[in-house]
Amino acid sequence: MGQNTIPFNRPSLAGREIEYLLQAVDSGHLSGDGAFTAKCHAFLAQRLGAAKVLLTTSCTHALEMAALLLDVQPGDEVIVPSFTFVSTVNAFVMRGARPVFADIRPDTLNLDETLLEGLITPRTKAIVPVHYAGVGCEMDAILDVARRYGLAVVEDNAHGLFGSYKGRRLGTFGCLATQSFHETKNFSCGEGGALVINDPALVERAEILREKGTNRSRFFRGQVDKYTWVDLGSSYLPSELLAAFLWAQLEAWEDIQAARRRLWLRYDEQLAGWAERSGVRRPIVPAHCQQPYHMYYLLLPGLGHRQALIARLKQRGILSVFHYLPLHLSEMGRRFGGMPGDCPVCEDVSDRLLRLPFYTSLTKDDQERVVASLIESPVGEHDGG
Ligand SMILES: *Cc1c(COP(=O)(O)O)cnc(C)c1O
Repeated sequence: MGQNTIPFNRPSLAGREIEYLLQAVDSGHLSGDGAFTAKCHAFLAQRLGAAKVLLTTSCTHALEMAALLLDVQPGDEVIVPSFTFVSTVNAFVMRGARPVFADIRPDTLNLDETLLEGLITPRTKAIVPVHYAGVGCEMDAILDVARRYGLAVVEDNAHGLFGSYKGRRLGTFGCLATQSFHETKNFSCGEGGALVINDPALVERAEILREKGTNRSRFFRGQVDKYTWVDLGSSYLPSELLAAFLWAQLEAWEDIQAARRRLWLRYDEQLAGWAERSGVRRPIVPAHCQQPYHMYYLLLPGLGHRQALIARLKQRGILSVFHYLPLHLSEMGRRFGGMPGDCPVCEDVSDRLLRLPFYTSLTKDDQERVVASLIESPVGEHDGG
C-alpha cells in the first residue's frame, strides 16, 4: 500500500504559536498570569459573556477547582452522566462526594434530563452535565430541576467551546463551567484548561484557590498591601509559554472553526448514503443546538461490526477509535455500587460508537481516503456479535 497512516488525532498549528512562544521568552515572564494569559482571559470572557474566565493547567484541574468552590463535602452526591471522561467525576470524588450515575439520551448521548428528578436525594449537591461532542444538553430542563431543588450546575464543556444551546453559548448556563485545551480538543496548548465563572460571587475565591490559597491576585491589583495564606488552594495556573501557544490558536478561532465545520460536513454528506444502507447512525444535532464540530462519530449496529471496522480501517492505515466506557461499570464505579443495567443506553452506545480521524489539519485527500475505505466496507457482512 505504501500510503501514510492517517492518525485519529494530530496537533494542528494555527500559525503564530512559535512566534508567540519567543515573545513570551523575550518578555522575561515565564510563570503564570502574564500578558498572554491576560489576552486569553479577556478573549474567552468576552466571547462567552462570562463574569470571569481563568486559565488552568487542565480541564481536570478546573473541575477540581469547581468542587472546591462549591464546598463539596464527604457524603455529598453529585449527578454525572456515566458516558464521560473520568475527570468529570473524579474531581468531586476527590472531595469525598459520591457519584450518582445518570443514563444518557439515545439521540445526543447527553445526560438524560428526564431521569434527574429520580436521582435527587437530600444529599445531592450538584449536577454536572457534559455537552457530548459539543452538542448542548437540554439546559432548560436541567436548570429548571436545579433551581427547584437548590442544586449547583457545573458544565463540563471540554468538547463544547463556541457551541451554543438556543442561541446562548455553552459554558454560560452553570454557575461554573470547565474547558479543556488538551491536544485532542479544538483549541490546544498540549495540556491546559479554563474555569468559566458565571456567578460573580465565586470569582474572588476562584482566584485564591488557583493561587495556592493566597490572595496574590488582590495584591497585584493593589487591593491589599501584602499577600498571605487565606484559604485552601493549589497551583492551577499555567505558564505563560502555554498561554502564548494557546493565544495563537484562540486568535485564529474563526479559521479553526471554519476548517472543522468543512471537515464535519464533508464526512456527514459523503457518508450519508452508505450509513443509510448499512444501518449506521450518523450524529444527531437538534436544530436548537449549534455545535462547535469537535468530533465525528458513527453508531454501528453492534460491537462486532465496530471492532471489524476498526480492524479493517487499520489495515488501510486509518486509525479510528471507540470512546468512553461506562463509568458506572469501571473498577471505581463498581465501588460506588454501579451495576450492569443501571445505564442501559450508555452501556449499549459505548459498544457501538466509532470516532473517525478528525483534526483541524486533516487534508481533503486524507479525509476522502477515510470515506472511500468506509464505503468499501460492507458493515452487514459478519456476525455482528
Ligand atoms: C478532555 C476531557 C476532560 C479532561 O480534560 P483535560 O484538559 O485533559 O484535563 C474532561 N472532560 C471531558 C468531557 C473531556 O473530553
